[in-house]
Amino acid sequence: MPRTLLRNLRIFDGVHPELIEDASILIEGDRIAAIHGLDDAPSADETVDLEGRCVIPGLIDAHFHAYASDIDFVKLEKLPPTYLAQRARHLMEDALGRGFTTVRDVGGGDYGLWRAIEEGWIAGPRLFYCGHAFSQSGGHGDIRAPHETEELCGCSGRGILAKRVDGVDAMRKAAREALRQGAHHLKIFVSGGIASPSDPIWMLQFSEEEIAAIVDEATRRRSYVAAHAYTAETIARAVRLGVRTIEHGNLIDEAAARAVAEAGAFVVPTLATYEAFRRSGAESGAPEHLMTKLVEVAGQGIEAIRICRAAGVRLGFGTDLLGPLHRHQRDEFRLRAQVETPFETLQSATSVNASILGMDGQLGTIAPGAFADLLVIDGNPLSDIALLHEDSTAIHSVWKAGRPVGN
Ligand SMILES: [Zn+2]
Repeated sequence: MPRTLLRNLRIFDGVHPELIEDASILIEGDRIAAIHGLDDAPSADETVDLEGRCVIPGLIDAHFHAYASDIDFVKLEKLPPTYLAQRARHLMEDALGRGFTTVRDVGGGDYGLWRAIEEGWIAGPRLFYCGHAFSQSGGHGDIRAPHETEELCGCSGRGILAKRVDGVDAMRKAAREALRQGAHHLKIFVSGGIASPSDPIWMLQFSEEEIAAIVDEATRRRSYVAAHAYTAETIARAVRLGVRTIEHGNLIDEAAARAVAEAGAFVVPTLATYEAFRRSGAESGAPEHLMTKLVEVAGQGIEAIRICRAAGVRLGFGTDLLGPLHRHQRDEFRLRAQVETPFETLQSATSVNASILGMDGQLGTIAPGAFADLLVIDGNPLSDIALLHEDSTAIHSVWKAGRPVGN
């Protein structure tokens, strides 16, 4: 196996708040073999002097949609899959270039895209996918306008990102089918959302029986359920029924946060998408109902993080961007700095997200045995998180599986 030595660097390992100074990283194949000091490092086939730069684990985005290459879901539905796959390829390659070496797709991402990445056809981040997110009729994944029926819109209920599933038996079948197709997790919508036309944010989506059924299917397959949920009521109900990750969570309160913490579940905030819509949603083609509903949740995102941290909730890091707004992926770092230390945000984007993926010690950390997915930064992001802001030029190089990405 080829051995590469990265020497003369400082390490943030994704877990501990202090840097390892004067270090070297020995890479064997696609994994980190050992961490050495500056002078006791072994020889290797290739040695790269990083001149005192910081090396951190490759970033993980735990709320990503590779197929959301347009803001308007209705438009997206009418495009051919082969064409959408090419657009997904671009979104993935751009994400990797921004330093995200892993993404968790929570609606849309599928076996074909995963396989193309694994085989190297696409130079994208590692992909953890769920296939379609599941929505009840009239739920967040139902993009029909109120007057549209199946016959009128020509839509099958099986969209690009989500599909409609109603009833316990249908839920079990959809879950089994997704898991058969290699889904790493399953995703449901249990409250209203902003991109859908007919469901109020406060709505309790899916019956308890339906949620319990999908949790049962996932658990027996040693997988888990992620749920889109905004309100305290929907969040508390979801974790009580065994949901493991709460997506967005903007309207959480102290009691719901305690319930999440006690269940050992996670919250994955996605501040970047609300900010991107607030700034440029209208001109990017966001539908009117989206801009109206945005107001209900956007302002609460920061406070939700404060409440979760106080309750001891493990917080992941996500973005949930759509269409051209994907370029704001690293804006999440700037937004979370309003309420978190650089260490807290970086830990969320690395080792905590790896825990969500069930990849502790393998992703999101710099340690022997972990994948050599790395970000080399000019400067120390633990003292200056602005080095990771979207307009920053401090990222020196991105490494995935032991090799530098692009140039
Ligand atoms: Zn989403």
